[in-house]
Amino acid sequence: MENWKKSLIEHVKGDFYPDYPLSRLNAMGVGGKAALFLILNSEDEIPPLLKMKDEFNFPLFVIGEGKNTLFREEGFPGVVLKLKGDFRKIIPQHDKVWAGCGVRLASLLNFFISHAWGGIEGLSGIPGSVGGALVMNAGGEGFSLGEFVDSVEVWEGDSKRVMHPCFSYREGVQTSGIITGAWLRFVSSDKREIKQTIKEIMEKRHKKFPHAYPSLGCTFKNPSPQMPAGLLIERAGLKGLRRGGALVSPKHANFIVRVGECRSTDILDLMKTIQEKVYQMWGILLEPEVKIV
Ligand SMILES: Cc1cc2nc3c(=O)[nH]c(=O)nc-3n(C[C@H](O)[C@H](O)[C@H](O)COP(=O)(O)OP(=O)(O)OC[C@H]3O[C@@H](n4cnc5c(N)ncnc54)[C@H](O)[C@@H]3O)c2cc1C
Repeated sequence: MENWKKSLIEHVKGDFYPDYPLSRLNAMGVGGKAALFLILNSEDEIPPLLKMKDEFNFPLFVIGEGKNTLFREEGFPGVVLKLKGDFRKIIPQHDKVWAGCGVRLASLLNFFISHAWGGIEGLSGIPGSVGGALVMNAGGEGFSLGEFVDSVEVWEGDSKRVMHPCFSYREGVQTSGIITGAWLRFVSSDKREIKQTIKEIMEKRHKKFPHAYPSLGCTFKNPSPQMPAGLLIERAGLKGLRRGGALVSPKHANFIVRVGECRSTDILDLMKTIQEKVYQMWGILLEPEVKIV
C-alpha cells in the first residue's frame, strides 16, 4: 500500500475503503475506482486529514449523496470523502438552525415540518445532502437554498472559517475545502400549509421530471430562464437519443436517464453530442450542471 494511504490510516480515525467502486457513490451508478474512499464521523478528524493532504499532496473530493456527480471511468487517484455521524446533526438555536453537511435534504425538510418552520419547501423532491445543496445552490421554480443560508462553515488549509457566500443560479459555496454545515434561517408557519405546498410541488415534479429511471437531475444549466436547456435540446430533436445505456429522456430533454448497462463514457458522449447539436442550431454552448470528476 502507498505511503500516503498508510499514513492516513495511522493518523485519521475513520472508515477506510481502498480501491472503492465509485459506481456505489453516485445516482447513475457509473465510474471507475477511488484510490481511497474515506468516511469520517467527527469533525476532530478533519485537521489530521488536511495535514496529511498537505504533506502528501493527494487529491481530495468530498461527496454528498452523489446525486449531481458524474465520475469518469478513469477513477479518482486520491481520497473521496463522505461525512456522516456528527455531520448528520440538525441543531436549532434561537431563530436559526444548524444543519450538518451530511444531512439528507428530505430529513432537513421533515425536521422543518415537525417544527412548523417554512421557507425551504422548494427542496421537496430534490435528492441530496445539505453539503451538495450548498455547493449547487439547489432549488427550482423560483426557490434556491441560498436564500435561507445565514452562514457556512468550511475547513480550508489548516483552519476553519465562516463564509457568507453569494448565491446565484446553481452557484453556491465555492471552495476546494470541506464544508461541515450551515446556519439556516426559517419562517414560522403552519404545518398544514407547509404540507400542502410540498404536495403541490411534488405533483408538479412528478408530471415534469422522469422518475422511473436513475438520472443526475438536470444535465445542463439553463442559459436563461426564457431559454431552458430542456427546450433547446428538445427543439434540436434530441429526445430519445441513446448512447449505450444512457438516453435523453423522452419526458424531459435535459435529463439523461440510465436505461441499461451504462458507463460514464456513454453519458459523456451523449453530453458532447447534445452540446454540439445545440451549438450548431442555436449558437449556444450548454454548460454542464452536473459535476464531472
Ligand atoms: C432525480 C433528480 C432530480 C433532481 N432535481 C433537482 C432540482 O430540482 N433542483 C436542483 O437544484 N437539483 C436537482 N438535482 C440535482 C441534485 O439533487 C442537487 O444538486 C443536490 O444538491 C446534490 O446533492 P448531493 O449531496 O447529492 O451532491 P453531490 O453530487 O454529492 O455533490 C455535488 C457537489 O457538491 C460538493 N460537495 C458535497 N458535499 C460537500 C462538502 N461537505 N464539502 C465540500 N463540497 C461538497 C461535491 O464535491 C460536488 O462538487 C436532482 C438530481 C436528481 C438525481
